[in-house]
Amino acid sequence: MRNRPEDMPKIELPAGADDAHLSHGIAIRDWLDALPHAAAAFSFKNNTLSIVAVNDSFRQHFNLDDESRKRPHASEWRKRILRCARSDKASESFELRRDGILGPEYFSCAVGRLPEAEGQPNLFLFTALDRTSDRTIEKNLRRELLSDGLTALPNRTGFGEEIDDRLANTPWPENAQFGIIAIDLSRFSRVNESLGPMAGDELLITVAKRLKSSLRQGDVLARIGGNDFAIFARLNNGLSDALHIIQRIRDALSYPIRLSDLQIRVDCAIGCALSISLSDEPEDIVRKAQAAVKIAKRSGKVEIYRNGVLKEAQRRFSVESRLRDALAQGELNLAFQPLIHLQTGEITGFEALARWKDAELGHVSPVEFIPVAEESGLITQLGRWAAYEAAQALSRWDAKFGQPLPVGINVNLSPIQMARDDVASMFEEALRYSGISGNRLTAELTESAIVADPEKARKLLFALKDLDMPIAMDDFGTGYSNLASLHSLPIDILKIDRSFVGSMLEDRDKEIMVRTILSLAESLGLHVTAEGIETQELAHALQNLGCWQGQGYYFAPPMAESDAFDYWRARWNFETV
Ligand code: C2E
Ligand code: MG
Ligand code: MG
Repeated sequence: MRNRPEDMPKIELPAGADDAHLSHGIAIRDWLDALPHAAAAFSFKNNTLSIVAVNDSFRQHFNLDDESRKRPHASEWRKRILRCARSDKASESFELRRDGILGPEYFSCAVGRLPEAEGQPNLFLFTALDRTSDRTIEKNLRRELLSDGLTALPNRTGFGEEIDDRLANTPWPENAQFGIIAIDLSRFSRVNESLGPMAGDELLITVAKRLKSSLRQGDVLARIGGNDFAIFARLNNGLSDALHIIQRIRDALSYPIRLSDLQIRVDCAIGCALSISLSDEPEDIVRKAQAAVKIAKRSGKVEIYRNGVLKEAQRRFSVESRLRDALAQGELNLAFQPLIHLQTGEITGFEALARWKDAELGHVSPVEFIPVAEESGLITQLGRWAAYEAAQALSRWDAKFGQPLPVGINVNLSPIQMARDDVASMFEEALRYSGISGNRLTAELTESAIVADPEKARKLLFALKDLDMPIAMDDFGTGYSNLASLHSLPIDILKIDRSFVGSMLEDRDKEIMVRTILSLAESLGLHVTAEGIETQELAHALQNLGCWQGQGYYFAPPMAESDAFDYWRARWNFETV
């Protein structure tokens, strides 16, 4: 129950009580002794500060002998009282730190001027409250806030503070620069997923130790994200110093790390950014190094930040976040490009190609957003959407036509999607949901998907065959064509990449490549589709070479669902009359 106001004890102030004088028989020392903290009274006359009285606590913590004057922080309180005495301020408060002295370290101090009395020197009251335990708690909290609990390295915030401290409090030669080296442990999440978080932690600790061993004095190592480390380094010789440090990092991480009974080789991507002058904002340079490391993850090389890289990274970032929304809100479309039987001119099917028009970014090409989707993990969702949408498009066309169309749709699969998702059940569901038979959905995959994990790819391909789906090898000729895998895997179609097809009439080497693929396919019993046919001559040349199927702007560009249907129906009518 709350106290009612009338329950509150009243404090009466008798007339004249606020006017009690020290001279009423009580010595100043007694007043000071009544206080629980250090207190002293000083007089100031002829520019000299003299002690009038001090209490025991003051005597204990504030050394009064002359020896103490040699320590700058020990005499700090004298200076502050003097400053107050010389000014015409009524009071002043300040914090005092007594570093390296036994006993309390932090005091919250106040100096107040007592009223002047005729003919008397000015009197000042000084009090000092011990704040050591508060400050220690604050300091510990701050340390926790600024460091990473696992590796005890500074975290991102701590890194910023360390850099500011190094830049402000250590001498820097005239033309020195600083550099930030960002390191991303590429396979870290795999370790976490397959060996568990304990092993992941152990890996991080070992990497932190190794990185630390590659530092020079004065460099700062930090863990600025889950698997992201960064180094702040002073560079007296610009980039060449930075490259030196990078070499040391690579050496330090080159030999395998032992995790329980496994030996793990750590792969890392390294990006670096250099300041132009010492007044550059460190946070900017950190961001630039992170942009460089993103590029390094793709290129597999050490990347040094160039102008424009950041723009690229920002663009990637906005593509990623807009794509996430677009997928959630169903804003992507499929376009359908006809696949033409080169000998008969018949439309045998369509390739489904993802299309995205964003309100802010405009039309974004799949050449740009597919890699972003792959890097961000959105590819699983995108791939699922494409498979369902393609199967649904077929069922809508069938419904419009009144019976199943004699065409199928090719759906592109990304190697990342194949590695992460259960693609076979995805197709099974898509087919079941739309009532489409498996032979009408062709999976287009690339050679890199097979190279990445041959055993997994093999299982998947056979599972797709169980669904009766044809399988096409996309962009054939551009990857590491492994003839053995072509022979042993259930592949039905090779799609010759348009970089060979487009220029085969002008470029003898390309023509030889196309002919070789055609004869290889013949001996393996595979069909061939030529991509990127833009002219009639090319269509004829490929027809004469015996190529089965063609795709390209010469026949038709990718079209909206209803246009593709109309295109097919117009030709189908024509062919049947
Ligand atoms: P792709 O699978 O090789 O698709 C063929 C690309 O060639 C398409 O580019 C198509 O528009 C383009 N093309 C067709 N005919 C011609 C021609 O005569 N001349 C030229 N110069 N180009 C032609 P698009 O639509 O920009 O797609 C690019 C790539 O993006 C695709 O290459 C495919 O790898 C990927 N992609 C598109 N949609 C999806 C999807 O739904 N999932 C996945 N995983 N990848 C997709
Ligand atoms: Mg394709
Ligand atoms: Mg292709």
